[in-house]
Amino acid sequence: ARAHVVVVGGGFAGATAAKFIRCYDPTIDVTLIEPKSAYITCPASNWTLAGLLKPARLQVDYRALVDDYQVRLIGDRVAAIDADRRKLVLADGDSLRYDRLVLAPGIDFDWQAIAGYDAEMAERFPHAWQAGPQTELLIRQIQAMPDGGRVLICAPPDPYRCPPGPYERASLIAFWLKQYKPRAKVVILDPKPSFSKQKLFESGWRRHFGYGTPAASIEWLSIANNPVVRLEAAGRAVVTDFGDRFTGDVLNIIPPQRAGRIAAQAGLTDGGGWCPVDPWTSRSRFNEFIHVIGDAADYAPIPKSAFAANSEAKVCARAVVDLLKGRPPPEPHWLNTCYSLIAPDHGISVAMVYRLNAGRIAPVPGAGGVSADSPAAAALEAGYAVAAYRNLRKDSFE
Ligand code: FAD
Repeated sequence: ARAHVVVVGGGFAGATAAKFIRCYDPTIDVTLIEPKSAYITCPASNWTLAGLLKPARLQVDYRALVDDYQVRLIGDRVAAIDADRRKLVLADGDSLRYDRLVLAPGIDFDWQAIAGYDAEMAERFPHAWQAGPQTELLIRQIQAMPDGGRVLICAPPDPYRCPPGPYERASLIAFWLKQYKPRAKVVILDPKPSFSKQKLFESGWRRHFGYGTPAASIEWLSIANNPVVRLEAAGRAVVTDFGDRFTGDVLNIIPPQRAGRIAAQAGLTDGGGWCPVDPWTSRSRFNEFIHVIGDAADYAPIPKSAFAANSEAKVCARAVVDLLKGRPPPEPHWLNTCYSLIAPDHGISVAMVYRLNAGRIAPVPGAGGVSADSPAAAALEAGYAVAAYRNLRKDSFE
Protein backbone atom coordinates (compact mmCIF):
# COMPACT_ATOMS: atom_id res chain seq x y z
CA ALA A 1 0.00 0.00 0.00
CA ARG A 2 1.08 3.57 -0.59
CA ALA A 3 2.32 5.46 2.45
CA HIS A 4 -0.04 8.16 3.71
CA VAL A 5 1.15 11.36 5.39
CA VAL A 6 -1.38 13.73 6.92
CA VAL A 7 -0.41 17.36 7.45
CA VAL A 8 -2.47 19.35 9.96
CA GLY A 9 -2.49 23.12 9.37
CA GLY A 10 -1.97 24.90 6.06
CA GLY A 11 0.21 27.79 7.21
CA PHE A 12 3.77 28.37 6.04
CA ALA A 13 4.96 25.25 7.89
CA GLY A 14 2.23 22.81 6.83
CA ALA A 15 1.91 24.00 3.23
CA THR A 16 5.67 23.75 2.70
CA ALA A 17 5.82 20.27 4.24
CA ALA A 18 2.94 19.00 2.09
CA LYS A 19 4.51 20.41 -1.08
CA PHE A 20 8.04 19.14 -0.41
CA ILE A 21 7.02 15.63 0.64
CA ARG A 22 5.26 15.36 -2.76
CA CYS A 23 8.34 16.82 -4.50
CA TYR A 24 10.78 14.47 -2.77
CA ASP A 25 8.65 11.36 -3.31
CA PRO A 26 5.51 11.43 -5.47
CA THR A 27 4.67 7.83 -4.48
CA ILE A 28 3.66 9.08 -1.02
CA ASP A 29 0.05 10.26 -0.59
CA VAL A 30 -0.27 13.55 1.25
CA THR A 31 -3.48 14.93 2.79
CA LEU A 32 -3.54 18.51 4.09
CA ILE A 33 -6.21 19.42 6.64
CA GLU A 34 -6.94 23.13 7.00
CA PRO A 35 -10.33 24.70 7.82
CA LYS A 36 -9.73 27.99 5.95
CA SER A 37 -10.18 28.03 2.18
CA ALA A 38 -7.74 30.93 1.91
CA TYR A 39 -4.75 31.63 4.11
CA ILE A 40 -3.92 35.21 5.08
CA THR A 41 -0.23 35.80 5.65
CA CYS A 42 0.95 37.53 8.82
CA PRO A 43 4.14 38.48 6.97
CA ALA A 44 3.45 41.80 5.23
CA SER A 45 0.31 42.32 7.34
CA ASN A 46 2.02 45.20 9.17
CA TRP A 47 2.56 46.84 5.77
CA THR A 48 -1.21 47.18 5.37
CA LEU A 49 -1.27 49.37 8.50
CA ALA A 50 0.80 51.95 6.63
CA GLY A 51 -1.33 51.63 3.49
CA LEU A 52 1.59 50.06 1.58
CA LEU A 53 -0.47 47.01 0.61
CA LYS A 54 -4.18 46.24 0.45
CA PRO A 55 -5.25 43.57 3.00
CA ALA A 56 -6.72 41.47 0.15
CA ARG A 57 -3.17 41.04 -1.22
CA LEU A 58 -2.22 38.98 1.85
CA GLN A 59 -4.45 36.10 0.71
CA VAL A 60 -3.13 32.91 -0.77
CA ASP A 61 -5.13 29.79 -1.66
CA TYR A 62 -4.30 26.09 -1.89
CA ARG A 63 -5.00 25.61 -5.60
CA ALA A 64 -1.37 25.08 -6.58
CA LEU A 65 -0.80 22.51 -3.84
CA VAL A 66 -3.83 20.57 -5.06
CA ASP A 67 -3.45 21.00 -8.85
CA ASP A 68 0.33 21.03 -9.27
CA TYR A 69 1.48 18.77 -6.43
CA GLN A 70 -1.59 16.51 -6.05
CA VAL A 71 -1.96 17.20 -2.36
CA ARG A 72 -5.39 16.08 -1.18
CA LEU A 73 -7.06 18.96 0.69
CA ILE A 74 -9.67 18.55 3.42
CA GLY A 75 -11.35 21.80 4.45
CA ASP A 76 -11.99 20.94 8.06
CA ARG A 77 -10.47 21.22 11.52
CA VAL A 78 -8.85 18.32 13.34
CA ALA A 79 -10.85 17.79 16.54
CA ALA A 80 -8.75 15.02 18.09
CA ILE A 81 -5.66 12.89 17.50
CA ASP A 82 -5.71 9.25 18.54
CA ALA A 83 -1.94 8.74 18.54
CA ASP A 84 -2.07 5.09 19.63
CA ARG A 85 -4.18 4.14 16.61
CA ARG A 86 -2.52 6.69 14.29
CA LYS A 87 -5.93 8.17 13.57
CA LEU A 88 -7.41 11.66 13.41
CA VAL A 89 -10.94 12.76 14.05
CA LEU A 90 -12.23 15.75 12.10
CA ALA A 91 -14.72 18.32 13.41
CA ASP A 92 -17.40 16.87 11.08
CA GLY A 93 -16.91 13.44 12.72
CA ASP A 94 -15.01 11.70 9.92
CA SER A 95 -11.80 9.95 10.83
CA LEU A 96 -8.60 9.40 8.94
CA ARG A 97 -5.59 7.10 9.31
CA TYR A 98 -1.97 8.12 8.83
CA ASP A 99 1.42 6.48 8.65
CA ARG A 100 3.08 9.72 9.71
CA LEU A 101 1.49 12.94 10.91
CA VAL A 102 2.98 16.41 10.42
CA LEU A 103 1.47 18.80 12.93
CA ALA A 104 1.70 22.54 12.13
CA PRO A 105 -1.14 24.32 13.94
CA GLY A 106 0.67 27.61 14.66
CA ILE A 107 -0.07 29.46 17.88
CA ASP A 108 -2.78 29.84 20.46
CA PHE A 109 -3.06 32.72 22.93
CA ASP A 110 -2.78 32.41 26.69
CA TRP A 111 -6.12 34.02 27.55
CA GLN A 112 -5.45 33.57 31.28
CA ALA A 113 -2.48 35.92 31.31
CA ILE A 114 -4.31 39.26 31.15
CA ALA A 115 -7.45 39.39 33.30
CA GLY A 116 -10.37 40.85 31.36
CA TYR A 117 -8.79 40.14 27.97
CA ASP A 118 -10.17 37.15 26.07
CA ALA A 119 -11.13 36.16 22.54
CA GLU A 120 -14.32 38.22 22.79
CA MET A 121 -12.50 41.33 24.05
CA ALA A 122 -10.07 40.94 21.14
CA GLU A 123 -13.01 42.02 18.95
CA ARG A 124 -12.73 45.43 20.66
CA PHE A 125 -9.00 45.53 21.37
CA PRO A 126 -7.38 43.60 18.51
CA HIS A 127 -4.18 41.61 18.86
CA ALA A 128 -3.87 41.37 15.07
CA TRP A 129 -1.34 38.56 15.66
CA GLN A 130 -3.28 36.24 13.37
CA ALA A 131 -3.78 38.23 10.19
CA GLY A 132 -7.22 38.81 8.68
CA PRO A 133 -10.24 40.52 10.27
CA GLN A 134 -8.11 41.40 13.31
CA THR A 135 -5.65 43.33 11.12
CA GLU A 136 -8.50 45.18 9.40
CA LEU A 137 -10.06 46.08 12.75
CA LEU A 138 -6.76 47.58 13.89
CA ILE A 139 -6.50 49.60 10.66
CA ARG A 140 -10.04 50.99 11.13
CA GLN A 141 -9.38 51.92 14.75
CA ILE A 142 -6.16 53.76 13.90
CA GLN A 143 -7.91 55.61 11.06
CA ALA A 144 -10.76 56.61 13.41
CA MET A 145 -8.45 57.79 16.19
CA PRO A 146 -8.23 61.55 16.85
CA ASP A 147 -5.10 63.46 15.86
CA GLY A 148 -3.14 63.75 19.08
CA GLY A 149 -4.31 60.26 20.08
CA ARG A 150 -2.17 57.42 21.27
CA VAL A 151 -1.78 53.84 20.00
CA LEU A 152 -0.65 51.56 22.81
CA ILE A 153 1.02 48.33 21.67
CA CYS A 154 1.41 45.73 24.42
CA ALA A 155 4.26 43.52 23.20
CA PRO A 156 4.32 39.87 24.32
CA PRO A 157 6.94 38.07 26.42
CA ASP A 158 9.36 35.58 24.80
CA PRO A 159 8.98 33.21 23.08
CA TYR A 160 6.41 34.44 20.58
CA ARG A 161 5.62 34.51 16.86
CA CYS A 162 7.83 36.99 14.94
CA PRO A 163 10.24 38.65 17.41
CA PRO A 164 10.65 41.88 15.36
CA GLY A 165 6.90 42.05 14.55
CA PRO A 166 5.72 44.46 17.28
CA TYR A 167 8.51 46.93 16.44
CA GLU A 168 7.90 46.81 12.69
CA ARG A 169 4.22 47.39 13.51
CA ALA A 170 5.04 50.42 15.70
CA SER A 171 7.25 51.83 12.91
CA LEU A 172 4.64 51.51 10.18
CA ILE A 173 1.81 52.88 12.33
CA ALA A 174 4.06 55.85 13.16
CA PHE A 175 4.81 56.25 9.45
CA TRP A 176 1.07 56.43 8.67
CA LEU A 177 0.35 58.79 11.59
CA LYS A 178 3.15 61.13 10.49
CA GLN A 179 1.22 61.78 7.28
CA TYR A 180 -2.39 61.77 8.49
CA LYS A 181 -2.35 62.50 12.25
CA PRO A 182 1.00 64.16 12.92
CA ARG A 183 0.22 64.94 16.57
CA ALA A 184 -0.54 61.30 17.38
CA LYS A 185 1.97 58.77 18.69
CA VAL A 186 2.72 55.10 19.28
CA VAL A 187 3.80 53.75 22.65
CA ILE A 188 5.20 50.22 22.97
CA LEU A 189 4.80 48.67 26.39
CA ASP A 190 7.30 45.82 26.60
CA PRO A 191 7.74 43.10 29.23
CA LYS A 192 11.25 42.48 27.85
CA PRO A 193 14.43 44.44 28.67
CA SER A 194 15.52 44.43 25.01
CA PHE A 195 14.21 43.30 21.62
CA SER A 196 15.14 41.93 18.21
CA LYS A 197 17.23 44.23 15.96
CA GLN A 198 16.88 46.92 18.67
CA LYS A 199 19.86 49.06 17.55
CA LEU A 200 18.64 49.16 13.95
CA PHE A 201 15.05 49.91 14.94
CA GLU A 202 16.12 52.71 17.29
CA SER A 203 18.42 54.18 14.68
CA GLY A 204 15.55 54.15 12.15
CA TRP A 205 13.17 55.66 14.68
CA ARG A 206 15.63 58.51 15.31
CA ARG A 207 15.86 59.11 11.56
CA HIS A 208 12.11 59.05 10.83
CA PHE A 209 10.21 59.63 14.07
CA GLY A 210 12.31 61.88 16.37
CA TYR A 211 12.89 58.94 18.71
CA GLY A 212 14.40 60.00 22.02
CA THR A 213 13.31 63.65 21.67
CA PRO A 214 10.27 65.35 23.25
CA ALA A 215 8.62 65.37 19.81
CA ALA A 216 9.05 61.60 19.29
CA SER A 217 6.13 59.80 17.68
CA ILE A 218 7.42 56.43 18.94
CA GLU A 219 8.15 55.65 22.54
CA TRP A 220 9.42 52.30 23.89
CA LEU A 221 8.73 51.58 27.55
CA SER A 222 10.37 48.49 28.99
CA ILE A 223 8.41 47.19 31.94
CA ALA A 224 10.55 44.09 32.55
CA ASN A 225 9.43 41.99 35.54
CA ASN A 226 6.26 44.06 35.70
CA PRO A 227 4.03 42.61 32.95
CA VAL A 228 0.54 43.72 31.98
CA VAL A 229 -1.88 41.63 34.05
CA ARG A 230 -5.24 43.35 33.58
CA LEU A 231 -7.34 45.13 31.00
CA GLU A 232 -9.74 47.87 32.10
CA ALA A 233 -11.92 47.96 29.04
CA ALA A 234 -14.08 50.91 30.12
CA GLY A 235 -11.05 53.15 30.69
CA ARG A 236 -9.17 51.76 27.65
CA ALA A 237 -6.30 50.99 30.02
CA VAL A 238 -3.98 48.15 30.91
CA VAL A 239 -2.62 47.65 34.41
CA THR A 240 0.71 46.00 35.27
CA ASP A 241 1.64 43.64 38.08
CA PHE A 242 2.90 46.57 40.21
CA GLY A 243 -0.27 48.56 39.53
CA ASP A 244 1.06 50.95 36.86
CA ARG A 245 -1.73 52.03 34.50
CA PHE A 246 -1.33 52.86 30.80
CA THR A 247 -4.08 54.19 28.55
CA GLY A 248 -4.47 54.42 24.80
CA ASP A 249 -7.03 55.59 22.25
CA VAL A 250 -6.24 52.36 20.42
CA LEU A 251 -5.09 49.33 22.38
CA ASN A 252 -3.23 46.63 20.44
CA ILE A 253 -2.79 43.88 23.02
CA ILE A 254 -0.60 40.97 21.89
CA PRO A 255 -1.01 38.29 24.57
CA PRO A 256 1.54 35.63 25.58
CA GLN A 257 1.51 32.66 23.22
CA ARG A 258 1.80 28.88 23.13
CA ALA A 259 1.35 26.04 20.62
CA GLY A 260 -1.98 25.74 18.78
CA ARG A 261 -4.67 24.09 20.91
CA ILE A 262 -4.72 20.71 19.13
CA ALA A 263 -1.06 20.15 20.12
CA ALA A 264 -1.83 20.48 23.83
CA GLN A 265 -4.99 18.37 23.45
CA ALA A 266 -2.93 15.59 21.90
CA GLY A 267 -0.45 15.69 24.80
CA LEU A 268 2.42 16.96 22.65
CA THR A 269 3.31 20.13 24.64
CA ASP A 270 5.61 20.55 27.64
CA GLY A 271 5.28 22.82 30.68
CA GLY A 272 6.22 25.87 28.59
CA GLY A 273 3.27 25.26 26.25
CA TRP A 274 5.32 24.42 23.13
CA CYS A 275 6.05 21.08 21.43
CA PRO A 276 9.52 19.68 22.14
CA VAL A 277 11.00 17.86 19.13
CA ASP A 278 14.02 15.83 18.13
CA PRO A 279 15.44 18.43 15.72
CA TRP A 280 17.20 15.92 13.45
CA THR A 281 13.92 14.24 12.43
CA SER A 282 11.40 16.87 13.68
CA ARG A 283 9.63 14.05 15.57
CA SER A 284 7.74 14.92 18.71
CA ARG A 285 9.57 13.97 21.90
CA PHE A 286 6.28 12.38 22.95
CA ASN A 287 5.36 10.38 19.82
CA GLU A 288 7.59 8.88 17.15
CA PHE A 289 4.96 9.02 14.37
CA ILE A 290 4.12 12.70 14.84
CA HIS A 291 6.41 15.45 13.52
CA VAL A 292 5.90 19.04 14.71
CA ILE A 293 7.05 22.12 12.79
CA GLY A 294 6.49 25.87 12.66
CA ASP A 295 5.54 28.19 15.50
CA ALA A 296 3.97 25.38 17.56
CA ALA A 297 7.31 23.58 17.95
CA ASP A 298 10.29 24.47 20.07
CA TYR A 299 13.27 24.90 17.73
CA ALA A 300 14.98 27.51 19.93
CA PRO A 301 17.25 29.33 19.29
CA ILE A 302 15.61 29.47 15.83
CA PRO A 303 12.96 32.22 16.10
CA LYS A 304 9.29 31.64 15.33
CA SER A 305 9.03 33.06 11.82
CA ALA A 306 7.45 32.07 8.52
CA PHE A 307 10.92 31.81 7.00
CA ALA A 308 12.00 29.43 9.78
CA ALA A 309 8.74 27.48 9.48
CA ASN A 310 9.47 26.97 5.77
CA SER A 311 13.01 25.79 6.58
CA GLU A 312 11.82 23.44 9.38
CA ALA A 313 9.20 22.05 6.98
CA LYS A 314 11.83 21.14 4.38
CA VAL A 315 13.97 19.34 6.97
CA CYS A 316 10.81 17.58 8.17
CA ALA A 317 9.69 16.61 4.65
CA ARG A 318 13.04 14.99 3.97
CA ALA A 319 12.99 13.13 7.31
CA VAL A 320 9.40 11.91 6.76
CA VAL A 321 10.24 10.55 3.32
CA ASP A 322 13.45 8.87 4.49
CA LEU A 323 11.84 7.32 7.59
CA LEU A 324 9.00 5.94 5.46
CA LYS A 325 11.57 4.40 3.12
CA GLY A 326 13.69 3.02 5.98
CA ARG A 327 16.64 5.33 5.26
CA PRO A 328 18.42 7.53 7.83
CA PRO A 329 17.60 11.23 7.21
CA PRO A 330 20.61 13.45 6.40
CA GLU A 331 22.08 15.89 8.89
CA PRO A 332 19.86 18.98 8.91
CA HIS A 333 20.63 22.69 8.55
CA TRP A 334 18.12 25.49 8.97
CA LEU A 335 17.92 29.06 7.71
CA ASN A 336 16.16 32.10 9.01
CA THR A 337 15.84 35.64 7.72
CA CYS A 338 13.59 38.27 9.26
CA TYR A 339 13.06 41.47 7.28
CA SER A 340 11.27 44.46 8.78
CA LEU A 341 10.24 47.76 7.24
CA ILE A 342 10.66 50.91 9.34
CA ALA A 343 9.39 53.05 6.44
CA PRO A 344 8.66 52.12 2.80
CA ASP A 345 12.25 52.97 1.80
CA HIS A 346 13.89 51.72 4.98
CA GLY A 347 14.36 48.00 5.55
CA ILE A 348 16.44 46.08 8.09
CA SER A 349 17.15 42.38 8.45
CA VAL A 350 18.65 39.66 10.57
CA ALA A 351 19.76 36.33 9.08
CA MET A 352 21.25 33.15 10.52
CA VAL A 353 22.17 29.59 9.56
CA TYR A 354 21.75 26.87 12.19
CA ARG A 355 23.02 23.33 12.61
CA LEU A 356 23.25 20.74 15.36
CA ASN A 357 26.06 20.98 17.85
CA ALA A 358 26.18 18.10 20.37
CA GLY A 359 22.51 17.40 19.70
CA ARG A 360 21.31 20.98 20.16
CA ILE A 361 20.44 23.57 17.55
CA ALA A 362 23.11 26.27 17.41
CA PRO A 363 23.90 29.23 15.13
CA VAL A 364 26.78 28.64 12.72
CA PRO A 365 29.41 31.22 13.72
CA GLY A 366 29.97 33.89 11.09
CA ALA A 367 27.05 32.71 8.94
CA GLY A 368 24.58 35.50 9.69
CA GLY A 369 24.15 38.86 11.29
CA VAL A 370 22.12 42.04 10.94
CA SER A 371 22.03 44.49 8.05
CA ALA A 372 24.28 47.56 7.96
CA ASP A 373 23.06 50.77 9.57
CA SER A 374 23.25 53.23 6.68
CA PRO A 375 20.66 54.93 4.44
CA ALA A 376 22.04 53.12 1.37
CA ALA A 377 21.77 49.69 3.05
CA ALA A 378 18.31 50.57 4.39
CA ALA A 379 17.06 51.41 0.88
CA LEU A 380 18.41 48.15 -0.55
CA GLU A 381 16.99 46.12 2.34
CA ALA A 382 13.53 47.62 1.76
CA GLY A 383 13.57 46.13 -1.74
CA TYR A 384 14.86 42.81 -0.41
CA ALA A 385 12.04 42.72 2.16
CA VAL A 386 9.40 42.84 -0.57
CA ALA A 387 11.22 40.25 -2.68
CA ALA A 388 11.71 37.96 0.32
CA TYR A 389 7.99 38.05 1.09
CA ARG A 390 7.06 37.18 -2.52
CA ASN A 391 9.61 34.37 -2.69
CA LEU A 392 8.59 32.86 0.62
CA ARG A 393 4.93 32.80 -0.37
CA LYS A 394 5.73 31.20 -3.69
CA ASP A 395 8.13 28.66 -2.21
CA SER A 396 5.60 27.63 0.46
CA PHE A 397 2.26 27.67 -1.39
CA GLU A 398 2.95 27.44 -5.14
P1 FAD B 1 0.30 29.52 10.98
O1 FAD B 1 0.74 30.41 9.91
O2 FAD B 1 -0.45 30.12 12.12
O3 FAD B 1 -0.58 28.36 10.36
C1 FAD B 1 -1.24 27.42 11.16
C2 FAD B 1 -2.45 26.89 10.42
O4 FAD B 1 -2.95 25.77 11.13
C3 FAD B 1 -3.59 27.90 10.34
O5 FAD B 1 -3.92 28.13 8.99
C4 FAD B 1 -4.73 27.25 11.13
O6 FAD B 1 -6.00 27.49 10.55
C5 FAD B 1 -4.35 25.78 11.06
N1 FAD B 1 -4.85 25.00 12.20
C6 FAD B 1 -4.75 25.27 13.52
N2 FAD B 1 -5.35 24.31 14.26
C7 FAD B 1 -5.85 23.41 13.38
C8 FAD B 1 -6.60 22.19 13.53
N3 FAD B 1 -6.96 21.74 14.73
N4 FAD B 1 -6.95 21.52 12.40
C9 FAD B 1 -6.59 21.97 11.15
N5 FAD B 1 -5.89 23.11 10.97
C10 FAD B 1 -5.53 23.83 12.07
N6 FAD B 1 7.52 35.72 9.58
C11 FAD B 1 8.47 35.93 8.62
O7 FAD B 1 9.23 35.03 8.30
N7 FAD B 1 8.60 37.14 8.02
C12 FAD B 1 7.82 38.21 8.35
O8 FAD B 1 7.95 39.28 7.78
C13 FAD B 1 6.82 38.01 9.36
N8 FAD B 1 6.01 39.02 9.72
C14 FAD B 1 5.05 38.82 10.66
C15 FAD B 1 4.26 39.89 11.03
C16 FAD B 1 3.27 39.74 11.99
C17 FAD B 1 2.42 40.91 12.40
C18 FAD B 1 3.08 38.47 12.59
C19 FAD B 1 2.00 38.27 13.61
C20 FAD B 1 3.87 37.40 12.22
C21 FAD B 1 4.87 37.56 11.27
N9 FAD B 1 5.72 36.51 10.91
C22 FAD B 1 6.70 36.72 9.96
C23 FAD B 1 5.63 35.19 11.59
C24 FAD B 1 4.79 34.17 10.83
O9 FAD B 1 3.50 34.67 10.60
C25 FAD B 1 4.67 32.87 11.57
O10 FAD B 1 5.93 32.48 12.08
C26 FAD B 1 4.16 31.78 10.62
O11 FAD B 1 2.85 32.09 10.23
C27 FAD B 1 4.22 30.39 11.27
O12 FAD B 1 3.65 29.46 10.40
P2 FAD B 1 2.88 28.17 10.94
O13 FAD B 1 2.54 27.41 9.72
O14 FAD B 1 3.64 27.54 12.02
O15 FAD B 1 1.56 28.76 11.64
